[in-house]
Amino acid sequence: MLTTKPVYKRFRGYLCRRCLSREYRVHMTPKDCRYQRVNLCPCCCASNHVVVGFTLRGHIKMLFKR
Ligand SMILES: [Zn+2]
Repeated sequence: MLTTKPVYKRFRGYLCRRCLSREYRVHMTPKDCRYQRVNLCPCCCASNHVVVGFTLRGHIKMLFKR
């Protein structure tokens, strides 16, 4: 995926980095993601580190995930 839209559709919200890594079996580091604090992660209800987009390195890691 190139955007976090599929994540949003599947989980009805943006996931935090930890849940994203678990659900898509990819190791996302803090620098791979862009964040927004106003959202809550639908899996763990964390409001920190909610991923709304990827940086270039994140894009490459998520490229073959769906
Ligand atoms: Zn979470």
